[in-house]
Amino acid sequence: MQAFSQAHPSQPARVSLLIVDDEPRYLDSTRLLLTPVVDGIDTALDGAQAYARLEQRLYDLALLDLHLPDTTGHDIMAWLRIHQPQCRVIITSGDDHIEAAIQSLRLGAYDYLRKPYEPEELIQTLRNVVGRIHLERDNRRLQQQIEHSEEWYRLLVNNSPDIIYTLDARGSFTFLNESVRRTLGYSPEELIGQDYLVLVPPGEIDHVRHRFNDRRTGNRATRNYEMRLRRKDDLLTKLSPHAIDNQVIVELSAMGMYRAQPDGDEEFLGTYGVARDVSERKQAEATITFQAYHDQLTSLPNRTLFHDRLGQAMVQAKRHAQNMAIMFLDLDRFKVVNDTLGHPIGDSLLQAVAQRLKACLREGDTLSRIGGDEFMLLLPLIHSRENVIFIAEKILSALKTPFNIEGHEIFIGVSIGIALYPEDGDNRETLIKHADIAMYHAKDHGRNNFKFFTHALNKALSGRLSVENDMRRALQEGQFQVYYQPQVDIESRRIRGMEALIRWQHPRRGLVLPDDFISIAEDCGLINPISDWVLGSICRQANLWAASRLPIPTLAVNVSPRQIEHPHFVDRFMEILLGGCARSDAIEVEITESALMRDVDGAIGKLRKLADQGVNISIDDFGTGYSSLSYLKKLPIHTLKIDRSFVQDLFRHQSGATIVAGIAAMAKGLKLHVVAEGVETEEQLNYLRELGCDAYQGFYFSHPVDAGKATEILSAQLPG
Ligand code: C2E
Ligand code: MG
Ligand code: MG
Repeated sequence: MQAFSQAHPSQPARVSLLIVDDEPRYLDSTRLLLTPVVDGIDTALDGAQAYARLEQRLYDLALLDLHLPDTTGHDIMAWLRIHQPQCRVIITSGDDHIEAAIQSLRLGAYDYLRKPYEPEELIQTLRNVVGRIHLERDNRRLQQQIEHSEEWYRLLVNNSPDIIYTLDARGSFTFLNESVRRTLGYSPEELIGQDYLVLVPPGEIDHVRHRFNDRRTGNRATRNYEMRLRRKDDLLTKLSPHAIDNQVIVELSAMGMYRAQPDGDEEFLGTYGVARDVSERKQAEATITFQAYHDQLTSLPNRTLFHDRLGQAMVQAKRHAQNMAIMFLDLDRFKVVNDTLGHPIGDSLLQAVAQRLKACLREGDTLSRIGGDEFMLLLPLIHSRENVIFIAEKILSALKTPFNIEGHEIFIGVSIGIALYPEDGDNRETLIKHADIAMYHAKDHGRNNFKFFTHALNKALSGRLSVENDMRRALQEGQFQVYYQPQVDIESRRIRGMEALIRWQHPRRGLVLPDDFISIAEDCGLINPISDWVLGSICRQANLWAASRLPIPTLAVNVSPRQIEHPHFVDRFMEILLGGCARSDAIEVEITESALMRDVDGAIGKLRKLADQGVNISIDDFGTGYSSLSYLKKLPIHTLKIDRSFVQDLFRHQSGATIVAGIAAMAKGLKLHVVAEGVETEEQLNYLRELGCDAYQGFYFSHPVDAGKATEILSAQLPG
């Protein structure tokens, strides 16, 4: 019972009553009589008291005597109409004129009771009016509740981030929430009555119509159907090429609304649906996918995507018996740019190169950056070799004009290796590997050109691979040997130094010269352990000579660029040197100009460290590179070794002598020691003396010889 009364909305609240009558006895008896019917009863004996009461509170009901000493019931009624319109009035009066009653009702009285009346009559009348008041109150409350819940519902619907809509059976909007304004730029009013297809991009109308008609016939709901909707501005600018930006991707869930028919069928009333804007999520997903498949720096497809496209292109080519080509592109000397100008400029250069390369492509070609300064190009349809040559030449010439990056004029070349499908490989890995081999071949042939893959190249490569394996074994099994070639002072004819030159006593191939394996060792990283071994070996030899009390000449050791690039080059070098007990001022490091050019600043720093610890620095094969005087001045150099090609040219070309004389004069100016390499004859030696060289090295005095012979030569120098 308790629960019921709580839940009952029309539980009567208090009803207040004011009784106005000039007869005190009547007032008292009426109050008693009505107490069970009305909760709060006040009384007044005249108009003055009545108004005083009325000023204080609101009454639901007033029982007014028509004739009062200072006023009339009608006057109070008139006042009430203005100040307390909710108050219902029942007029009581001894006046039995019908006009009085009519007048009262006309003025808005609820009822008119003529005195004297039966108590039941009064009670009944009061019960009626109280009941009515309760009813009205309930009504008002209900109305408020309805208004409130409607407001609530509207609030929910309109603040939903999703578009909520209903369509009639023909597909016209009958309802849309406010979200449509935020999402698509339309007001709900603009769309109501319109076909939903106005929101569908023209290209997708057929598809969408099919989908929804299909759904409508069945009683199933569509869930999370992804589609595009046009924004209002898209309609305005539908010719704009950026129309795609004016579309919104939504995920739509829709449901048919049906009404059961008496015949058991269902009548289709329309559709109720919710569309969620997922554009941002889609955008984020697209960005993530893009990043996974593209290179961040250039936005070109990355290796993964390239592989994928290559696979697809192969399937196509196979199906249609077509030819295709891939190109492996590697920038020439990109590292120099990076090292000398810094990574930000290197990055900008890569971006600029990517731009130029893209301009060389046809539609359907894929250019990809697969790492560092390496690019791959897929040409999925080619008709002839000339086709490919044309594109390769176009690329080479596109890069001919220098790049201007932040005020730096940069020339960059590219080496291109080409592999053709199907003849050079019928799977991705082989094709890419062969393009790579061809690219190395292009690099070996002076760079900045292109080479097609050939099977002969492949053989050379596998030869290279076996050399690599053999070298590892050679290190372990002690097949390397150091030969020594004396450097002789031209004036005193005494041995000033010995150049250490490595030899490989190969079990099958016999004595292998450094030109046949040093560059391979550099490529595969074996150059570092090999060089360590050479340095250790000459230290041991120097100790042996010292023990035999032989004069120890300066020992020159060749250092390759790959060694210098190593971050711990200096420490490693000094560690071996000092560990081997050799004096650092008895050691000379020979370094070629090209090694210096790769990273001038890095090399200068490291060589200076060596020089600071007493090591001599010598520039090998001088004159063949592009060293400028400005570099030489910065370097802590002691010796210049004139390349043997100039010595050989001495009597062949006029230029030979000119160059040697020039180098010698320059070296004198810089107070450098000049050593001529490759001296084979006495005439050469005499001429070199005239031209101002300090020392020479060559077959004329001695071939490079093993340690035993070198010891003999040194012993022969001993006086007596
Ligand atoms: P390089 O430093 O310029 O060495 C001089 C080369 O000229 C040696 O060749 C030597 O045998 C050769 N030669 C000397 N006198 C004459 C001559 O009168 N006429 C002719 N035609 N040639 C002469 P080799 O020993 O074959 O070495 C070739 C190159 O290999 C060296 O050129 C050097 O760059 C490199 N190399 C040799 N040993 C090492 C080493 O231990 N480490 C490194 N990194 N490179 C080395
Ligand atoms: Mg040398
Ligand atoms: Mg040399």
